[in-house]
Amino acid sequence: MTTRPGSRLYPLSRVYKLKDEFFPSPGLSDFKDSLTSINLYYPVLLYIFIPEIKKPHIFMNPGSSADDGDPAKPLSLSSYSFLMAVFLLTLASCTERTGRKEPVPGPDSAYLKRQEKKAKDSLAALTRKKKKIYLTFDDGPNKGTRNVLGVIEEEKVPASFFIVGIHTTDTRQQQETWELLQADSTIELCNHSYSHARNRYTSYYEEPGIIVNDFNYSKEKLGFKNNIARTPGRNAWRIGSIDHTDIYESKAAIDSLHSAGYAVMGWDIEWTFDHKTLAPDADTALLLRRIYNLLEAKKTKTADHLVFLAHDQAFQKAEYVEELRYVIQQLKNNPEYELMLASEYPGIR
Ligand SMILES: [Zn+2]
Repeated sequence: MTTRPGSRLYPLSRVYKLKDEFFPSPGLSDFKDSLTSINLYYPVLLYIFIPEIKKPHIFMNPGSSADDGDPAKPLSLSSYSFLMAVFLLTLASCTERTGRKEPVPGPDSAYLKRQEKKAKDSLAALTRKKKKIYLTFDDGPNKGTRNVLGVIEEEKVPASFFIVGIHTTDTRQQQETWELLQADSTIELCNHSYSHARNRYTSYYEEPGIIVNDFNYSKEKLGFKNNIARTPGRNAWRIGSIDHTDIYESKAAIDSLHSAGYAVMGWDIEWTFDHKTLAPDADTALLLRRIYNLLEAKKTKTADHLVFLAHDQAFQKAEYVEELRYVIQQLKNNPEYELMLASEYPGIR
């Protein structure tokens, strides 16, 4: 038989006063608040503080029966208070977890960093997957060069101009064009020889010393900032492991140019033009389809990289300039392509 402690309930205002006495330390305020939230003060104080229950009461051990003849084992008040305190503390800690609003997790910086890195990696992977196209324009400065430069600037695309040294001084207009080319920091200027072999290619490539001197002279005079060279009248390559000469008789001369420190860049596709009328091939749809097919079939010198060749002089008339703009826009706006400078070609040092 359990004797319930005779108790008189304290008025709530009294309980709260006692509460403040019992929990004076600010360090206990959280615990105090948690108790408040489930109105636990009342029983806590009821059992611990009110004078009535400090009177020696006997609590019967619930495990024994008053009828079995054994004396009831008393449970002392201090033990009871201790058990109650443990019970209430447990209840309070539960309340702490469930009664209060869970703090909303703030931005975890490690998590954010991981997400940011993930996004960057995906973007980098996407960019890596893009096929690279290198727009290159030969033989300037000449009458079409300013038009080409204008389109490149308006369309804001990277492009590389392979300069013929002697063309920079031929006429006053060419000198001015050369000045304009040098002033544009978004394009790249590369060496296409000084003399362009004076268009006598066979003899030019007969003696290796001739071509090396010609390119060195142009480099000295024009001060190119890179070692990228394109041989006049020959589609030849000497970049990394790419070793290609379209006309075998020129091989020794082009090897010597490479040995002299030049990265020789040919082209994968040429936008041809009529050498009499200087009109570029009008079938731009076919040109774009060929670019697409070469890249898809991986038939370029380096898979997924295509060097595109056009000639400045083919863009003297406004209608041809618009064709050039159209082709550039088609390449630029194709999400599978990325336009690049010659110096960004794989293997160029
Ligand atoms: Zn040329």
